[in-house]
Amino acid sequence: MKVIIDKNSGFCFGVVYAIQMAESILDEEGVLYCLGDIVHNNKEVDRLNERGLKIINHEDLKELKDCKVLIRAHGEPPSTYALSLKNNIQLLDASCPVVLKLQHQIKEGYEQLKEIDGQVIIFGKEGHAEVTGLVGQTNSEAIIVTTIEDLEKVDFSKSIYIYSQTTKSPKAYFDITKEIERRVKLSSNPDIKYIVNDTLCRQVSGREPQLKQFSNDNDVIIFVSGKKSSNGKMLYKSCEKENPNSYFISDVDELNSEWFFDAKTVGICGATSTPRWLMENIQKAIEKIA
Ligand code: SF4
Repeated sequence: MKVIIDKNSGFCFGVVYAIQMAESILDEEGVLYCLGDIVHNNKEVDRLNERGLKIINHEDLKELKDCKVLIRAHGEPPSTYALSLKNNIQLLDASCPVVLKLQHQIKEGYEQLKEIDGQVIIFGKEGHAEVTGLVGQTNSEAIIVTTIEDLEKVDFSKSIYIYSQTTKSPKAYFDITKEIERRVKLSSNPDIKYIVNDTLCRQVSGREPQLKQFSNDNDVIIFVSGKKSSNGKMLYKSCEKENPNSYFISDVDELNSEWFFDAKTVGICGATSTPRWLMENIQKAIEKIA
């Protein structure tokens, strides 16, 4: 049985940058606070915890003063920067450049729409750290839409700019924007501006077609990801659609030998938050089973 790791899977540049920044500070200082899980992968978080990284939440941040705190790739709303300034907290900003650009775009769109009483829509998951950072650019006025049902919150007689969380599925974003377009057209106001902004991260959407090919090329697919990773869930669905012998796991102990009975090739792949070392451990474990 041949067991291979997908060469395109593993950390995206945004995650690599945040982890490198954390590691270089940990090398020098031995301890560092990070606001939220540095990456949606428990195994990698555990590894960095052992090196001195302390994960804190926003409540903890309120209690801190005169220290350094890392901002992870997902970015933060303006309120986090304001609080840190007040409490003399030095923020080490590892926000991904793709997310920062999107925050900037949303802020600009919000300012324009304020003039004409329009609405900013963010297609994403409520409570997800990136979405919280994006909504923060609009004075918390943006409407978060996750499903078609959420469109009930939108007033289709007013102008709309829509933006997507960077890691959403291109197909799901296309579907929701088409449905909004349909409803806007039904409105009787000819002055409505409806602008769809293409804000999906190519690091994720570019992986989908490659993963589909990889899923077809192998008898069994082992998809490795933390359970909280949005792009992990999305990319796994693509694998499963192509190859029904696909399995989602987060660690070696979730492997089941029965999955490999008739397999000649096993492909291991993962999300943008899946460390290479974890996929290599899983490769070794499957080779042992074989
Ligand atoms: S998935 Fe894209 S937007 Fe998100 S951290 Fe990685 S590079 Fe940045």
